Amino acid sequence: MILLSWNKLLCYTIEETIYVDKKASLVNAIKEHGFSIRDIYTVTQAVARFTNVNSITSDQKITVSVNDDNFLQSLSIMDGVNNHKIIATRTGDGFFVTKLVKLPDNMVFPIQEKFYHRDISPIFVENIIAKKSKLSDDLPKYKVFTASIHNSLYNTARNLGIHPNSIIKMVEAIEKQSSINLNKLSKNSKLETVVEFDPEENVNVLCFAILDNGSNNATFYNHEFRDGQRKVVNLDHYIGNGKGFVSPVDPSIPISSHYGNRYHPIKRKKSFHKGIDYATQIGTPVYAASEGEITVLSKSTSYGNLIKIKHQNGYLTLYAHLSKFAPNIKSGANVRKGELIGFSGDTGMVTGPHLHFETLKDNKHINPLQVLSNRSNFDISEIRNIKETIMNVRSVVSDAK
Ligand SMILES: [Zn+2]
Repeated sequence: MILLSWNKLLCYTIEETIYVDKKASLVNAIKEHGFSIRDIYTVTQAVARFTNVNSITSDQKITVSVNDDNFLQSLSIMDGVNNHKIIATRTGDGFFVTKLVKLPDNMVFPIQEKFYHRDISPIFVENIIAKKSKLSDDLPKYKVFTASIHNSLYNTARNLGIHPNSIIKMVEAIEKQSSINLNKLSKNSKLETVVEFDPEENVNVLCFAILDNGSNNATFYNHEFRDGQRKVVNLDHYIGNGKGFVSPVDPSIPISSHYGNRYHPIKRKKSFHKGIDYATQIGTPVYAASEGEITVLSKSTSYGNLIKIKHQNGYLTLYAHLSKFAPNIKSGANVRKGELIGFSGDTGMVTGPHLHFETLKDNKHINPLQVLSNRSNFDISEIRNIKETIMNVRSVVSDAK
């Protein structure tokens, strides 16, 4: 296991200039810098009042300023054609205020050939050179890196030589599929990655990552599904140990109430419990038990925030008391087995946070444990494909240890 410590690498540039060589959208021009999706969206909206954010050209020079935690503080766009400067500055409430400043006539703007210009600290350059010379005689295809995160996830991954596109996919996966807040990473956060070295491009492409923030972790594989789609997802939830329906939450979370007759905790009488309860904390990721179509996405008095998914062969699953729905999840959407659909919570009629999970076959309730253990409707070759990716990653990690 290679352990890299970057204690001395805290001297990052506070202000950076971004040059665009032909045409780019503002989002594409700044997203390699590891800002949160929310910040990118908010700042883009803020400057859209004064410029076409979908078409930034080489006449427009973008400057961003960030604090130590890589939080975007301000963004300005110098417009050489219109001779003005647009400045968006972060306000206390997380939004940006924009102003337009007229510039003196005949101002000259430097044009840079490179798309993205980033100042690199000298220590970082040395490390890159050291890494390159080591790789030259015997090129290992896969490498395992573990690094403490001192600055931002983006900068740490960048220092490991991971390609920006890979990092953006990982950042998006973490923001969409886990409950880890990248803007509030603890001091002992750690990133473990398996990367594949691409000698032609001289870059490391991310195959696998675990982000551990001390109390929580998020696991991701960069996997190509059999339909050709490449996704950065947690594959462990897709195979569910070979069982039919996968667990809607991390399988290690205990069941706090089983299916069947029980004494109702709120109604205080004997009643039939139509599902099982998982003892989840608020914000625990909830996954689709199998592939299907979201038929209900609503708020109910008893069930709280509720999702229903219709599956093949007359099966239906129900997920209740959610704190929120996952981004991009809407009624009518098709989901894959193991795809993140929401986060558990305590909405509706509850005594405390948990996930209430029901399964129905032909509109009749059945014990979810029966489905989770017996049924299998997952394409066998896809399972093999997923397992292969997981096995590859595991063997690379164990070789390195
Ligand atoms: Zn329940």
